[in-house]
Amino acid sequence: MTMTTTTTTTMHSNHIAGRWVDGSDSTSNINPSDTDDIIGHYARADAGQVTDAIGAAAEAFKGWSTTTGQERADILDTAGSEMRARQGELADLLAREEGKTITEARGEVDRTIRIIRYHAAQALMPAGEVVHSIRPGVKIDVVREPVGVVGVITPWNFPLAIPAWKIIPALAYGNTVVFKPADLVPASAWHLVDILVRAGLPDGVLNLTMGRGSVVGDAIARDPRVSALSFTGSVATGAHVLEAAQSHQARVQLEMGGKNPLIISDDADLDVAVSVAVDGSFGSTGQRCTAAERFIVDERIHDAFVEALAARMSKVVVGDARDPRTQMGPVVDARQLEQNQAALRRAEADAGEVIGGELVEAPRPGFYMRPAAVVGTKQTDWINVEEVFGPVVSIVKSRDHDEAVALANDTEFGLSSGIVTTSLAKAADFQRRSKAGMVMVNVPTAGVDYHVPFGGRARSSFGTREQGTYAREFYTTVKTTYVGAGTV
Ligand code: NAD
Repeated sequence: MTMTTTTTTTMHSNHIAGRWVDGSDSTSNINPSDTDDIIGHYARADAGQVTDAIGAAAEAFKGWSTTTGQERADILDTAGSEMRARQGELADLLAREEGKTITEARGEVDRTIRIIRYHAAQALMPAGEVVHSIRPGVKIDVVREPVGVVGVITPWNFPLAIPAWKIIPALAYGNTVVFKPADLVPASAWHLVDILVRAGLPDGVLNLTMGRGSVVGDAIARDPRVSALSFTGSVATGAHVLEAAQSHQARVQLEMGGKNPLIISDDADLDVAVSVAVDGSFGSTGQRCTAAERFIVDERIHDAFVEALAARMSKVVVGDARDPRTQMGPVVDARQLEQNQAALRRAEADAGEVIGGELVEAPRPGFYMRPAAVVGTKQTDWINVEEVFGPVVSIVKSRDHDEAVALANDTEFGLSSGIVTTSLAKAADFQRRSKAGMVMVNVPTAGVDYHVPFGGRARSSFGTREQGTYAREFYTTVKTTYVGAGTV
């Protein structure tokens, strides 16, 4: 099946202080399903333009922070409606630039619209409380106010949803934003900003500065006018931006990597176990921070599980992300493909046996590989310690439930964890003892709702939770006012 492509030479600019402005440099956005397909050219901002964008956001904050919740909700709602009307087009673009399947891309656009609508409604929720003082005649107000200029730095694996779940609550609560998307996926980000500004955001309220992390991201993190920084990406970059932003006492929220465990208990239903494992680990080509990367399988069910898993993996259709028959798209770029292959070579050398993982010849040149599982690994093997961020899982045997829980918790990360079991007692025990921020019972470790807290513990996360009403903790700050008797 040949995909239609309209290769364009149009330059997509940055958006600063209400104007579309070219950068000092640009990047070509390449389709990972077909590297001959150039999706478009995207401006890269320099550090001076980032400074301008932050200045514009600081200036715009004065007005935007005093708008009513209704004004903000109406603008967000208009943006959500345009996205709904253009859902098919935006999903096609997302699949084309990131490589997730068209079904997954439609799901991401849908989720983005729901995030927008949810936070539009949140803009109208009560913004504080009145408390009785311990002193007679004194009234206390605790009021939530916006924080100021928010810096948003995002990764490439959810080009619309992750920017939305940061930018939209930031705007809904009255903050202004400087947004830096990942260099690999500027198109979805550009459209998100275009839709939001045309929906009626005043100049400077939302600024887009595309480009390199070491230039644009770094300049956002370092600028003392940025009051809050919300980052999603790798552990190494997270540590860097934390240090830069905390030097001027900005509040910081980091969502980073994982090495998420999935326990398969001896009493698990084999079909459920294989479905949960394959969906959670190979969906979005395994490029989800919540993907299960470690399967911890009870020795009594191990061989049957591995056999059923291998059979299911061999049926996964790998191909062009926009071909409706495709079940797993390409990985995002050549570097990630090489990293995945190197991880498999290293795991094999550590005495594991690799199922799948072969490079795939496709009609068009792209970054294709089959899903891979490494069998017979030891807990201390490299593959069980460091995140791979691709369609690569490792399998380790456990003697019993207690050892499985101990192995699941034996990691520096703590984002998502899962168990497949028919035992209520084991499920409840795992829920209690898991060290992860999100626990899944008989559902994949990846795939979360948008209206409840999202985030992890230990090396996976820093700061308050994202999403749902919990987003309010990050995007607002409280003011406590005491009003004494006799105030007229
Ligand atoms: P990355 O850390 O390379 O990049 C993330 C963002 O930071 C990008 O926009 C990048 O340009 C920017 N950046 C890079 N260097 C910078 C610097 N010196 N200063 C400021 N910004 C800089 O991550 P990635 O490769 O885009 O994404 C993959 C990683 O993201 C994986 O580790 C994955 O687990 C993680 N991730 C985590 C979550 C989560 O919610 N926990 C969600 C998705 C992805």
